[in-house]
Amino acid sequence: MSPSPKKRQIAAIKGTHDILPRQARKWQRVEEIANSLFELYGYREIRTPIFEATELFQKGTGETSDIVMKEMYTFVDKGGRSLTLRPEYTPSIARAIIEHQLHLQPDPLRFYFIGPMFRYDKPQKGRYRQFHQMDVEVFNEKDPAVDAEIVEMAARLLERVKVKGAEVLVNSVGCRACRPDYHLALRQNAEKHRKEFCADCQRKIDTNPLRIFDCKVAACREIALGLPKIIDYLCEECQVHFDQFRSYLDLYELSYKVEPFLVRGLDYYTKTTFEFVSTELGAQDAILGGGRYDDMMKDFGGPDICGIGFALGMERLLQLVPDEDSPEKFVYIAWMGDAAKKEAVLIARFLRLQGVECFIEYKSRGLGNQMGRANKFGAPWGVIIGEDEVKKQSYQLKNMVTGEQKEVTREKLLTAVRND
Ligand code: AMP
Repeated sequence: MSPSPKKRQIAAIKGTHDILPRQARKWQRVEEIANSLFELYGYREIRTPIFEATELFQKGTGETSDIVMKEMYTFVDKGGRSLTLRPEYTPSIARAIIEHQLHLQPDPLRFYFIGPMFRYDKPQKGRYRQFHQMDVEVFNEKDPAVDAEIVEMAARLLERVKVKGAEVLVNSVGCRACRPDYHLALRQNAEKHRKEFCADCQRKIDTNPLRIFDCKVAACREIALGLPKIIDYLCEECQVHFDQFRSYLDLYELSYKVEPFLVRGLDYYTKTTFEFVSTELGAQDAILGGGRYDDMMKDFGGPDICGIGFALGMERLLQLVPDEDSPEKFVYIAWMGDAAKKEAVLIARFLRLQGVECFIEYKSRGLGNQMGRANKFGAPWGVIIGEDEVKKQSYQLKNMVTGEQKEVTREKLLTAVRND
């Protein structure tokens, strides 16, 4: 007999990953902390679709950004439209504001969101094709005080989730008034090194020389260090903005470093840019990054309102958040016989209505087996229901830690497991 053909296992797609229940607990904890912190600063959640018209990102993220040039998950749907799985969140929010005219409503233009993003990049530790970001954006606030407030909020978030040792990097990338002069100086200087740059950077000299600073190739980084710095070319408005931004950071007593080559990977940034990095993350060291984008809305054909925001990588953050013991709290209800099974269902309903977590397994098993499973699952309490208990309407309550067991009424059972 020929051996049966081996079944091929379907695995998760390269660059994607499952978040299993034990890890999901940590995600939930961090998300809850983040949501409540953002609300504290006046932000409200906004949820937009996972896919959008490809044009949105071409226009919003920028034609010359790595994301648009190389990393988008773009497909044509059955109606012949070009769609893209969102690679970042800011353009989606900008679209939603314009579409729903949110800027004309009385609510503050402060938004947050946590969810998956998609980029076709080379997967490695800390870099995935489906990853998750926390995204925070404020619109229509020109004042540098808001730039500092958002950085301060990010610092508070890391503090609340007990991440230590992150470094705050800040810079200014100027605006449309000061960038042309800078671009010229940068291009002329980079041109002198054309042959030493990688092919990608050679292209960037012609398309968008600022992107040279995003290159990870060691030789290019070395040359980049000697190139002109945007910070030396700021117009008066950008310089004043940057100085005031820094003075507010000082007011918050936040320590930071000015990093003149921090230009961020996206085309739309103006003035302030910032990043939080950690040496504990390895090569992909950025926990979060953001900046101001004062022209994006206008360029979209929307209202002339400025914006500032940041995106934080959840996978990278979670790597730095210490694990916390989260012992199970549920009551394991064991039953023997059909009448007891029904009683168990009613007891579970009673406890759940009172907000007590409980767990029944419906497969018929012996008592020892059920208690063994309760132990294995880490349940602190076991309830045993047999024929006698059904008749008496009282139940055996077992403390799974001490092994102590006593007979209790339904009400006593509730008090005991609640006081735990
Ligand atoms: P960006 O939207 O590129 O400014 O990225 C903001 C943050 O998202 C980064 O600081 C990372 O923490 C995270 N991030 C970006 N790309 C990826 C990726 N491919 N995989 C995992 N995290 C990412």
